[in-house]
Amino acid sequence: MLDNPLLQPWLTPFETPPFDQIKPEHFIPAFEQAFADHVAEIEAIAADPAAPDFDNTITALERSGRLLNRVAAVFYDLVSAHSSPALLEIDSDVSLRMARHWNPILMNAALFARIDQLYQRRAELGLTPEQARLLERTYTRFHRAGAGLDQSAKDRLAAINERLAQLGTSFSHHLLGDEQDWFMEIGPDDCDGLPDSFVAAAKAAAEERGLAGKAVVTLSRSSVEPFLKSSTRRDLREKVYKAFIARGDNGNGNDNNAIITEILQLREETAKLLGYPTFAAYRLDDSMAKTPEAVRDLLQRVWRPARARALADRDALQALIAEEGGNFELAPWDWRYYAEKLRQRRADFDDAAIKPYLTLDNMIAAAFDTAQRLFGLSFTLRSDVPVWHPDVRVWEVKDRTGAHKALFYGDYFARPSKRSGAWMTSLRDQQKLDGAIAPLIINVCNFAKGTGGAPALLSPDDARTLFHEFGHALHGLLSDVTYPSLSGTAVFTDFVELPSQLYEHWQEQPQVLQRFARHHQSGEPLPDDLLRRFLAARQFNQGFATVEFVASALIDLEFHTQPAAAIGEIASFEQRELAKIGMPQEIALRHRPTQFGHIFSGDHYASGYYSYMWSEVMDADAFGAFEEAGNIFDAKVAQRLHDHIYAAGGARDPAEAYVAFRGRDPAPDALLRRRGLLDQAEAA
Ligand SMILES: [Zn+2]
Repeated sequence: MLDNPLLQPWLTPFETPPFDQIKPEHFIPAFEQAFADHVAEIEAIAADPAAPDFDNTITALERSGRLLNRVAAVFYDLVSAHSSPALLEIDSDVSLRMARHWNPILMNAALFARIDQLYQRRAELGLTPEQARLLERTYTRFHRAGAGLDQSAKDRLAAINERLAQLGTSFSHHLLGDEQDWFMEIGPDDCDGLPDSFVAAAKAAAEERGLAGKAVVTLSRSSVEPFLKSSTRRDLREKVYKAFIARGDNGNGNDNNAIITEILQLREETAKLLGYPTFAAYRLDDSMAKTPEAVRDLLQRVWRPARARALADRDALQALIAEEGGNFELAPWDWRYYAEKLRQRRADFDDAAIKPYLTLDNMIAAAFDTAQRLFGLSFTLRSDVPVWHPDVRVWEVKDRTGAHKALFYGDYFARPSKRSGAWMTSLRDQQKLDGAIAPLIINVCNFAKGTGGAPALLSPDDARTLFHEFGHALHGLLSDVTYPSLSGTAVFTDFVELPSQLYEHWQEQPQVLQRFARHHQSGEPLPDDLLRRFLAARQFNQGFATVEFVASALIDLEFHTQPAAAIGEIASFEQRELAKIGMPQEIALRHRPTQFGHIFSGDHYASGYYSYMWSEVMDADAFGAFEEAGNIFDAKVAQRLHDHIYAAGGARDPAEAYVAFRGRDPAPDALLRRRGLLDQAEAA
């Protein structure tokens, strides 16, 4: 395969992947070569006649698998952000091969014996703190993968892992399939209440589906939510809502119910093989939270006031319907619509009024400017770096001294080849094991394009998402560690949302909005009055937002703590659990089980969806450090934030890192205060 660009040196600027040359048929041969190289490296480490030491075992492991990392990073970026039927077919094959590759490595007895010996002698090895952390993480990773089990348990675990890999891939393909298949055409009579920007985006979405001249609502969240918020057509809202919550649950070839049942059984079996009573107990043992009980405590503490607030809001929405002469009960497809009306009345503010001020490019500039003020970074657009789609833009990131720091890829627009949601990932992680390696960091979002020459306009939620993902990006861009497996976002799942959620705080600061929120036509800044009303409205509908999130997190926890055999039919389980917690009937889960990719597309967030809230306890408290300093860009606080959080990767224990930044543990009430639920907590 001399002509396979994945196996050649990359002679591009910054040695980036030559996306313009990479074709689907290059992946399987490249993976095969990468697996073979990696196996040879691992065998050499395991069979080393020299006694194990940190360098010949742990550092050698860190150096292994470079080609595999390189190929896999490109592959998964494409599968998520720009897939094709050919890539999806390869994905099913690759996920199985990946499990078959990793199982024998993570369960290699000779290799684990070396790691174990070092771990037992860790105090005598004279390690730096980062090395000590790396040894502990390496030992834990192998131990938790079953490296210490007997052969029959290892064989079973390997078979389970292979099956889980296939199931997770099918789950996400099904979800993508249901999202791609459905759209609703809207004619001129169906647009009542819809902002012009929405109609323009609906036209662009139609054009992408080969329906030029028409307009369609799609099942992307950034199409569904604004439609539900603004369409006066109750019948159409119902139709869109029902299609949205039915994804993966339609009894067609994309149905995910049977997959969920099998995943839960296999995860439970995994946990038992590894000596844990439930999958949640296994999963949480290696997290900040540590136990299912600690997670449940946090979620319950938030649930009670959030539910009370949501119920009060529900009554207010019902009253509004009656006042308008409506003779129907508030349904789930009505909530966002009437909540928006109520907000306009209470706060005299609606999202559509601010949207013309939130252009995508200005919000990107705001995110960059914030990073410049806090961390001294500068960003320059580069047009010479190959990308996977013409919409992708690349910026070179430099530090305070003007030295090259990283590349940042922004892929912001929705398209049919992209899975839903927003995420950060990397094509190459920072490390300096053998010389400094600069990272290649990606943000992917699903914003609607502008049309007719108008720029893309963001809703306040979109703008917040942009800052959120950019916060993750900074965690990768600013990473300053030696070892690749501790780089950037390689931290506990319940810590990883701290850098992202914390960054959201700057997006809603008057100082930032006054400068960057400018009308896309007139260039006028956001009027003070509108700004004030916008900020006042931020806490509106937090009961709803908190309820749909916490209920999803609780369901995730229940899925992974109750015996799999007792769960039964997934929809009935969902109903039963929601009844138990007194879920308001007018609110659905943020992610119903058959579309809960966080926990079923892979196991990364399985019994880990609570992580966002765990991190929020910290981010709400962390921003307070800037408020207390009286300056949201305070240089000293920013330096501590940089050193202990954004640059630290997984090189130290996260609870210690937080205390090093803040000088104390996070105060638990900050979260409720931020969501405007503190009064409710005292009343409840
Ligand atoms: Zn995130």
